[in-house]
Amino acid sequence: MSSENAAPSRFAPKLMLVAGGVTLLLVAVGAGVLLWLWPQPPAAVKAQSVRQAAEPALAAASAPDGSASAPAAAPPVEAAPPARMAEVPLERLQRRLGEVLGAKAVQAGQGGELRVLARSGRMLPASPADKPEAAVPAHWSYGGLTGPQAWGRLKPEYSACAAGRRQSPIDIRDGIALDLDPVKFDYKPGSFAVVDTGHTVQVKGAPGNAIEVGGRRYALQQFHFHRPSEERINGRQFEMDVHLVHQDAEGRLAVVALLLERGAAQPLLQTVWNHLPLEQQEEVAVPTPIDLNQLLPADRRYYTYMGSLTTPPCSEGVLWLVMQQPLTVSARQIDVFSRLYPMNARPMQRAAGRLIKQSN
Ligand SMILES: [Zn+2]
Repeated sequence: MSSENAAPSRFAPKLMLVAGGVTLLLVAVGAGVLLWLWPQPPAAVKAQSVRQAAEPALAAASAPDGSASAPAAAPPVEAAPPARMAEVPLERLQRRLGEVLGAKAVQAGQGGELRVLARSGRMLPASPADKPEAAVPAHWSYGGLTGPQAWGRLKPEYSACAAGRRQSPIDIRDGIALDLDPVKFDYKPGSFAVVDTGHTVQVKGAPGNAIEVGGRRYALQQFHFHRPSEERINGRQFEMDVHLVHQDAEGRLAVVALLLERGAAQPLLQTVWNHLPLEQQEEVAVPTPIDLNQLLPADRRYYTYMGSLTTPPCSEGVLWLVMQQPLTVSARQIDVFSRLYPMNARPMQRAAGRLIKQSN
């Protein structure tokens, strides 16, 4: 339906080989052929050190003179002995594939990844979409080559997605029960606008909605939905969640998360669904007022911890306020969202000893 949904069929993997510490992925793209080569990381931590070790050489390999192949395969490896094992077959494979397929361009991507763009003589003339730089996936997604495992490598400004230590979402458990000050919700009925961002359905309310917590006032920026829920409570995942994103005058973010379980229909959600945009990125203004107080559970107890945005750029320093009492959403309402986004939840991140507090 959308251009993003159409993309996976164009880039459908045709062949994947894992051998000798190297993954080879062969993808047919229109009239051309793309090959991705990755060193097989022995473990996530080692993969990170390999990437860091490889970065200076990869940067040099991307120099505009186009002589990319030799330095790309010889990253400094003092800090990461496993890379020494991986680089030799990688270099050989890269050169050999270039010879066999008549590669016109050999590129070193980020994260220690090497790409070979090959075009045979009988191919059609190059179109802009076939240029090597256009072959680099520009958008992030929830699956495939630009999925959550790759977010941190897609753009320098997304590095926190891979390197961050206080990421979200987490499985919320073992919180310290305390008498937490209630979150003061200052929500008023007002008109709204809906946009299909390509990653979720997002709603912008009229100005004036805000929360107060910890002596700060945060203005509501937007709210949006995930399916299934990104938050888990003691391992339990919910059908959906709502994230209400707020920002204070100094730019600090506070996100209120509402968990949705299957049950009675949610009236406010239905109002939003009734105005789903037909096109992505086109904001639909709706004069019908919504009252966000309708979305809030009767029981206002919550969990709180410090985390990050759950989408690129995965910025940290985000105050999370996860309401304990789930709301309900009907099976039909879940189905409607699933038609657009059957899965738009980032995988669980490590809590790594972070303090979690919860209302008594
Ligand atoms: Zn979200």
